[in-house]
Order: sequence, then C-alpha cells, then structure tokens
Amino acid sequence: AAKQGGRNMHHFFSEEMNRRARKRHELEVSLRQAMATEELFLVYQPQYDLGSGRMSGVEALLRWRHPAKGLIPPSLFIPLAEDTGLIQTLGRWVLRSACAQAALWQQAGYPALRMCVNLSGVQLRQGDLLEMVDQALEETGLRPKDLELELTESVLMESAEANIGTLTELKRRGIHLAIDDFGTGYSSLSYLKHFPVDRIKIDRSFISDLPDNQDDAAIVETIIGMARSLKLKLVAEGVETKEQLEFLRLHNCLEMQGFYFAAPMPAAEIEKLLARGARCAVRTLSTG
Ligand code: C2E
Ligand code: MG
Ligand code: MG
Ligand code: MG
Repeated sequence: AAKQGGRNMHHFFSEEMNRRARKRHELEVSLRQAMATEELFLVYQPQYDLGSGRMSGVEALLRWRHPAKGLIPPSLFIPLAEDTGLIQTLGRWVLRSACAQAALWQQAGYPALRMCVNLSGVQLRQGDLLEMVDQALEETGLRPKDLELELTESVLMESAEANIGTLTELKRRGIHLAIDDFGTGYSSLSYLKHFPVDRIKIDRSFISDLPDNQDDAAIVETIIGMARSLKLKLVAEGVETKEQLEFLRLHNCLEMQGFYFAAPMPAAEIEKLLARGARCAVRTLSTG
C-alpha cells in the first residue's frame, strides 16, 4: 500500500510540475511579447528630502499590464526574467527609459532629480553592465551624477571581489550606488567598508511597525547611527504613516519614500508635481 501511495504521490508531483512548467513557459512567451509592446512600462515613486522639503529623487519601478491577466507584479515576473535571461534585454530597456525620462525632465527646465534604477544580480554578473550604463547615459545625455543604481546586499555579497571592481568603475564615472532593502541580508557589515556605496535604503520591514515596536525602533536607530558614522546617505522605504515619518525625522533620517507621501505613478503625474514645485506635501510635522 505504501508503494502504491508512493507511486501516486510521484504521479501527483510530476503532474504538478508539468503544470507549473507549462504556466511558466506561457508566462515567458508573453513576457517576450510584452517587451515588444506597450504592456511594459515604468512608474516612478518620489523620494522626499524633509530637509529641503522637496522631491529629491524618484525610483523607477517596472510594471507589466498583461492584456488578459491584468497587472502582474514585478515580484512575479522579474525572477522569471532572471531565470530565462530575458532580464538582460529588460534591464537594458529599463535603464535606458529611466535615463531618457530624467533627461527629458531636465531639458524641460525642472531641477535635477536623482533617478534611481534597480539592478538585478544577473545584470551585475554579466560582463556588459558598464558598457550598458555608458551607452544609456551617452544616448540620453543624462549626467552620471543624476543616476543612482540600487543593488541588494545579497547580490553584492555573491561575488564580492568581482563586484567591487565593477562598482568602483561606476563610482569613477560619478554614478551613485545604493544598497536596497538594507538590513534584510545576512551578511557581515564589514562589506560596507569595501564597497564604494553612497546610500543605504532602510528596508520597509523595519519601518512598518514603527514607532511601537521596540526592536524595530532600535534597529532603525542603529542603522541611522551607522550611516552617519560611515558618512553614508540614507533613505527610508515604505513610510506609510505620520508616526513613522515623525520617528524618522526625530532620529534625523530626512529622506523618505512611501505611500504616505506618494505611490509609484506614471511620468505625467511626476511632471505635475514638478510643475507645482515638487514640494513635500507634509506641512505640519509635529502637530496634528
Ligand atoms: P524595491 O526596489 O525595494 O522597491 C520598493 C517596492 O516597495 C516597490 O514595489 C514599491 O511599490 C513598494 N512600496 C513603496 N512604498 C511603499 C509603502 O509605503 N508601502 C508598501 N507596502 N510598499 C511600498 P514594486 O514596485 O512591487 O517592486 C517590487 C520589487 O521588484 C522592487 O523592490 C525591486 O526589487 C523589483 N523591481 C521593480 N522594478 C524593477 C526593475 O526595473 N528592475 C529590477 N531588477 N527589479 C525591479
Ligand atoms: Mg529599489
Ligand atoms: Mg527596497
Ligand atoms: Mg525589494
């Protein structure tokens, strides 16, 4: 009976695997098609500097509106694009489009914004990242100092030695580098000394339960203190409430990104904000 059950289980698993493989294949085919159409597009989420009271940057975030399935989140299709190698083409398109948009805003006369672009580990590992970045800047005319590339801790640690070389080259060009989702990796902090990074983005998992969660409060204070000592810039991700904002401000983390300020939005919406002076909507900070 046990043997019989085992066979049935095996049968069940292979059917399940087949089904998944098929779904994956379907998704891959439609992702390839999407890249050739308007289904893929970028939205931009403002980052505010409470010191100046203005938008200091935007993060470009990829969206896929599937004709039948609707909006597919990047957490679903980016890993697929990484596994299938499509990320190379996709990443190149993202970088070029984001740089072109930033250059366009500058040409329209708006004050310079930092354009933040997420890089996948696969892109870092491929040999042509520098060439791709150079090309995007050259073609769009965006200055290197207006571009910030975001990488996660775990990606940096994967092949630390090789990455230091690539990042140093990016730095030499004046491009800014940020560590995304900071605090969620499991690496030793000593890597911060070795990588030429400019900024850390405090992961939103540490922000969401502020200010009540004592552990998160302690972690965030520690990250802020460490960034200050290491002369790294900071931005807090996923700020959703006024209480979170107040906590961060009190502890002198003045750059923030999150739904409390603005959700990711189409370029045209960012433009409206820029046209109105890009001021931070938060006025009364300490009182109700
Ligand atoms: P990420 O780079 O950490 O981006 C921040 C994510 O947090 C975004 O999710 C954003 O919409 C979301 N977010 C922003 N503010 C809030 C908030 O206040 N509350 C909550 N709950 N969420 C907030 P999104 O757009 O779904 O992207 C998820 C991840 O997908 C990104 O995380 C990034 O790792 C990846 N991704 C997105 N676009 C690209 C891309 O062009 N290239 C690559 N390689 N990865 C991308
Ligand atoms: Mg990011
Ligand atoms: Mg993040
Ligand atoms: Mg993330």
